[in-house]
Parts: sequence; structure tokens; C-alpha cells
Amino acid sequence: MRIRTGFVSNSSTSSFCVFGIGFNELNEARDALKISGKPTKKMGCKHTFDRITNKQCPECGEPAYFIQDYHNWLEGKLDEACDDFGLKLFNKCYYGYGVYIGLDVNGIGQKLIDDMITTNKTIREVFDREAAIFEGSYND
Ligand SMILES: [Zn+2]
Repeated sequence: MRIRTGFVSNSSTSSFCVFGIGFNELNEARDALKISGKPTKKMGCKHTFDRITNKQCPECGEPAYFIQDYHNWLEGKLDEACDDFGLKLFNKCYYGYGVYIGLDVNGIGQKLIDDMITTNKTIREVFDREAAIFEGSYND
């Protein structure tokens, strides 16, 4: 949930508050949801290098789009899986936070407690864990 005032500033503070389950990264959420497979798109070369800071492979010159494509693919898969359970995916990895699955309770006053009860029940069934509140704020 982002509120911007004006249009001159190029950075803003966003905050999130999720009631659900948290993971350190997308791959952990993938394992918890037993998602398998891989992207069908071409994924770049097989050399190992830092694909976040390099635009191209230093060895063969292929574009370094493996990580991004894989993450996009995985995010889509996780979204679908969460949808099936009536949950939402919140990927805050790029801001130094983790991945959360559950209910957006930013501005909790407007949310029904019933939603949280339902979410907790689903989290218990799917992940065999209790839901918790995860919150933070970041600049983007
Ligand atoms: Zn290469």
C-alpha cells in the first residue's frame, strides 16, 4: 500500500504489515509450497557469476537474465499457489525483507477479524504453523 504525496520526489517510504507466514527468500516459500519445475523460457548461459551486478556473462557474453527470469517465473508460480489457498504473496526480498504469505493488514482497523481467523486456519492447514504479524518499512 503506497501513498505518494506530490510527484517531484523520486523516493518514498512504503510500509507493509502482513498477517501470515514469513520466509527468508522465494526458494524457501517454493519448498514450503512444494512447487517444482523450472521456467520454459531460455535462461542464459551456464557459467557462474554475479547476475545481479553484471549485465552480461564475463566468460561468454550471454545476457545475465537467468536470476530475474527465474524469480519472475517463481513469483508467478507462488502467486498461483497462494491464490488457490485464498492467500496473498508479498515479496519484500528486494528491500532486504523476506517473503510473506497471508493477509495484508496494513491499516488493520479496516480489516475484519474474520479475515484473520480464516487466514490463520489456512496457514495452519497449508504450512502447519501459526500465522504471525510481519511488518516493516522501506524506501523505494
Ligand atoms: Zn556464460
